[in-house]
Amino acid sequence: MFFRVIPKREIPDLVRGLAHEFEVVGPVAKGESFVFAPLTDPSELRLDYDTTLLPAKQWFFPASETLMRFRVADNAVVDDSVDVTPRVLFGLHPCDVNSLLLMDNVFLGDDPDPYYKARRDNTLIVGLSCMPTDTCFCDAWGTDETHWGFDIFLSEIGDDYYASIRSVKGAEVVDRYVTGREVTEEDTAAFQARTASFKAAFASDIDTSQLPVLLDAKYDSGIWAELGDLCLSCGACSMVCPTCHCFDVHDELEADQTHGTRVRTWDSCMFRDFAEVAHGNFREVRAARVRYRYYHKQWGYLSRFERVLCVGCGRCTRACKAHIDPPRVVRALQTGVVDR
Ligand code: SF4
Ligand code: SF4
Repeated sequence: MFFRVIPKREIPDLVRGLAHEFEVVGPVAKGESFVFAPLTDPSELRLDYDTTLLPAKQWFFPASETLMRFRVADNAVVDDSVDVTPRVLFGLHPCDVNSLLLMDNVFLGDDPDPYYKARRDNTLIVGLSCMPTDTCFCDAWGTDETHWGFDIFLSEIGDDYYASIRSVKGAEVVDRYVTGREVTEEDTAAFQARTASFKAAFASDIDTSQLPVLLDAKYDSGIWAELGDLCLSCGACSMVCPTCHCFDVHDELEADQTHGTRVRTWDSCMFRDFAEVAHGNFREVRAARVRYRYYHKQWGYLSRFERVLCVGCGRCTRACKAHIDPPRVVRALQTGVVDR
């Protein structure tokens, strides 16, 4: 990794240059919120955004996608091409960069998912420093920092960005589209000071120590029934989560019945029919579904990949009408009481 200083005023030049080679997707305003969307002009980019409604996963694992088209008569695949639009995701905060690394463990393992992989291989990631909001708790999981998973990472230092450059492609575009001067000791000191003020700004006090042990010990606790009573089974927490990755696959026949498409859509373990199988439903009640979600994220994934499947982005905190989120669940595990 090496470093350059890029003046903020040159960001529009960088975006315009990138747009010659890529579709540039970044945070833009939508009402009072923000979403990641393709830019038609650099002025749309809102690098002052707090978080986006939906996470970056949609650009690698869309909410709905056609996996293939098939012919019914002989069951033959007639088209399984993958969308490989070269793309830049511009302005991902550290939690969202980290979320993609967690998704990679799932989709790029021993048997890589070709759809996810094609998009990942063709996407440049430009990360961006942020300041925590009152719903952020990425510091609890260590996902407030990222040292991998990006091509360029822009850390704000006054009127400039301290750019960490991790890949050859990242170096090429910086070289091509902005001045990118060498860093000085003063720049590095400003970067360190900025990082310190970021760390000091977290308001969250979630204590994640001994969490797997607590989960093991409290599997039969009454807190799950209490949380289940609150849960609406709406699945919003999964949809907005950058690390939730469950999906359903179904076939749709075309009107003349000669061809069909196989479609993959996001699914959620919080939906009742997620666990509906031939012999019945193995997670019939909401308490079982809330418990499963937390055991999968904070125990099951951890036991396999040594990281929890949460980056503390706070999107579920904002989305859940029942106010169920990791900080509240962790507090309930520690105290044995669901706070009201
Ligand atoms: S935890 Fe909240 S967001 Fe998730 S399904 Fe239940 S009510 Fe909906
Ligand atoms: S569980 Fe909530 S806080 Fe954690 S990554 Fe998912 S949406 Fe973000």
